[in-house]
Amino acid sequence: MPNPLEEKLKNRIREAGPMSVVEYMSVCLLDPVYGYYPTRDPLGADGDFITAPEISQMFGEVLGLWCVQSWIDLGRPETLHLVELGPGRGIMMSDMLRAAALDPAFKSAVQVWLIEASAALEAVQGRTLANTNVPVNWAARLEDVPAGPALIIGNEFLDCLPIQQLICSDPFAGKDGWVERRVGLDDEDRLCFIRIDVPAPTILTDRLPEGASDARKDDLLEICPAVAQIVDTLVQRFADHPGRALFIDYGPETTEFGDTLQALKRHEKVGVFSDPGNTDLTARVDFAALGEVAKAAGLDTTRAIPQREFLSKLGIEMRAVSLTKSKPDAKAVIARQLHRLMADDEMGELFKAICLSSPDLPTPLGLR
Ligand code: SAH
Repeated sequence: MPNPLEEKLKNRIREAGPMSVVEYMSVCLLDPVYGYYPTRDPLGADGDFITAPEISQMFGEVLGLWCVQSWIDLGRPETLHLVELGPGRGIMMSDMLRAAALDPAFKSAVQVWLIEASAALEAVQGRTLANTNVPVNWAARLEDVPAGPALIIGNEFLDCLPIQQLICSDPFAGKDGWVERRVGLDDEDRLCFIRIDVPAPTILTDRLPEGASDARKDDLLEICPAVAQIVDTLVQRFADHPGRALFIDYGPETTEFGDTLQALKRHEKVGVFSDPGNTDLTARVDFAALGEVAKAAGLDTTRAIPQREFLSKLGIEMRAVSLTKSKPDAKAVIARQLHRLMADDEMGELFKAICLSSPDLPTPLGLR
């Protein structure tokens, strides 16, 4: 069904001129009436994309062990806020809690907080987590989760946060050498990218990642303004109570140039303007930029390491062996799931894990 969002976007451009890529992405993904997330459950084999927790229960299970160890690292607080950003169908949280229940003291400390932009997915999460026997709460924003020791986890959350796109027009002109790429209309009234040939506003160019200084003429740089907000919120939380934030997502360890905004529909890549509001839009995460912002704000920040290495250190191969013993008929399925999570030509290398912590905690498990 055609989505009325396209006409709404075009009208906005006709009235106010080309819009930023941030605005385009936010409206497409989160418009409360026609946006992508609020109007559907996009995950799984029948949906548009599939994520690690949807591929295998082993993913959430080993992360559950990571949570128990992190709780021990925080000094076994009596109450622990276990916060998930963008929980999808709630499967990862459900798998984490099941594995973490091996430590009853952990389980009795846990209060779950879910931060979800989509009411449709919130309902699914409620059903998935109905029988977990721990308090499950929803908050509109991370800032709204009550103070206290916290573990915050986001899998494939950062990649759907809206990005800005900048183009280097003059590599020798410093901040003034960057112009913005916006979304406008072409001669045939179709949505298209438009390069705005005046220096981009300094609010965009004030805090470019270090790697931006290597740009050559016409290189495209993506920046995600929401990252700085998330880091600010973590700094404020962790000033009074210890905590850790673990992010797993796709992207390079160092800042790279190039347009990575992509749209997915039924597991296929489609044009980013082909069906606004009905396709999933994401962009690669710049882990170097995230690490720089976090370190500058005073958080202890690990390297971003490949998912393969992280999950292996958490013992996922051993988990596969024991799961196979208890479900011998599923041997081939389990092997295939493990391959998808771990192989270099699947998710193993492209996906990375990074952890930002309050100062003075031990190095997090799996990221040593
Ligand atoms: N973590 C899940 C789902 C990933 S899809 C998994 O790995 O399967 C992205 C999730 O983030 C969805 O639940 C989506 O609705 C949510 N989301 C997207 N933008 C958001 C925002 N700004 N605030 C909160 N949740 C958001």
